[in-house]
Amino acid sequence: MGRTSKDKRDVYYRLAKENGWRARSAFKLLQLDEEFQLFQGVTRAVDLCAAPGSWSQVLSQKIGGQGSGHVVAVDLQAMAPIPGVLQIQGDITQLSTAKEIIQHFEGCPADLVVCDGAPDVTGLHDVDEYMQAQLLLAALNIATHVLKPGGCFVAKIFRGRDVTLIYSQLRVFFSSVLCAKPRSSRNSSIEAFAVCQGYDPPQGFLPDLTKPLLDHSYDFNQLDGPTRIIVPFVTCGDLSSYDSDRSYPLDLEDGSEYKYTPPTQPPISPPYQEACTLKKKGRLAKEIRSQDCPINTVDTLPQ
Ligand code: SAM
Repeated sequence: MGRTSKDKRDVYYRLAKENGWRARSAFKLLQLDEEFQLFQGVTRAVDLCAAPGSWSQVLSQKIGGQGSGHVVAVDLQAMAPIPGVLQIQGDITQLSTAKEIIQHFEGCPADLVVCDGAPDVTGLHDVDEYMQAQLLLAALNIATHVLKPGGCFVAKIFRGRDVTLIYSQLRVFFSSVLCAKPRSSRNSSIEAFAVCQGYDPPQGFLPDLTKPLLDHSYDFNQLDGPTRIIVPFVTCGDLSSYDSDRSYPLDLEDGSEYKYTPPTQPPISPPYQEACTLKKKGRLAKEIRSQDCPINTVDTLPQ
C-alpha cells in the first residue's frame, strides 16, 4: 500500500494534513461548531482526552487567537506543545488529574468542556460501550466542577444499547441535550457527540469527585416511562461537504493538483515505536531456527 492510498480512502485525513491539523477529528469539532456555534462568547475551555491535539488546535485558534483565551488540554499521552494551550498529562478518571484540572479554573469557571475520549477498543461491543460511558462520566464529573452556569459540554458517545442512561444523566445537568453526528464522522461508526447546552445542575447539587456518577446497581434495560430519554438526533456539516465513508480521487473537483502532504505532527512517543525501530533494522520478524524450517514434503517423500 503506497503512502497516498490513505489520502485516497479518507478525504478528511488528507484535508487535515493539508490544513495543518494534527488529526482528522478537527473537522468533527468544526462541523459541530457550524451547527451549534459552540465557540460563541467562549474564552475559557477544557479539552479532555486531547492528544494528538487537533481539537486543542481548533480551540486555540477560535478562542485563544487574541491571547485572551485560556485552554487546558488533558490526555494520558504526551502531546507536542500548542501555542496558548496549557497541557496536563494524566488519566481523567483519576482523582488527582481531575483536581489538577479544577485548580486551573477556581474562581474563573470554564465556558466549554469538550471530550473526544475513546478507550482502546477491544471489539467486544458491550465492553467498549461501557468503557466509553465511563470516560464520558469522568468528563461530566470534571465538567460539574469547572463549568459556569449556562456553559456547554460536548462529549463523544457510542450510540449503543444503553445510551439512553447516559442521556438521562446528562439531562439532569443540562437544559438541552442532543445527539449530533458530524459529516466527518463515518456513518459506519457508532460514534456520535452529545451536545449539552445550558449547564444547570439541580438545586442543592454539590459537585463531589468521590462519588462516581454511574450507579452500578442500575438495570440498564429497565429504563422506561419518563426515565427513558429520547434525545433529538442532528447531523451536522454542510451536505456539500465530503462524505467520510467515500473514497475520492486524488485530484479533487476544485481542479487543484494532488501533492502529498506529510502528517502535521507525528505522534511523539507512540506505543508502536519499538516495533518501528526493530522493523527499520530488519529485526521485527521472529528469528528462524533451523528446527522451525518447514520441510518440503514433496522432495522428501520416501521413494
Ligand atoms: N480530540 C483528539 C484530537 O483531535 O487530536 C483526538 C482524541 S483521540 C480520538 C482519543 C484520546 O483519548 C487518546 O489520545 C487517548 O489517549 C485519550 N484517552 C483515553 N482514555 C483516557 C483517559 N482515561 N484519560 C485521558 N485521556 C484518555
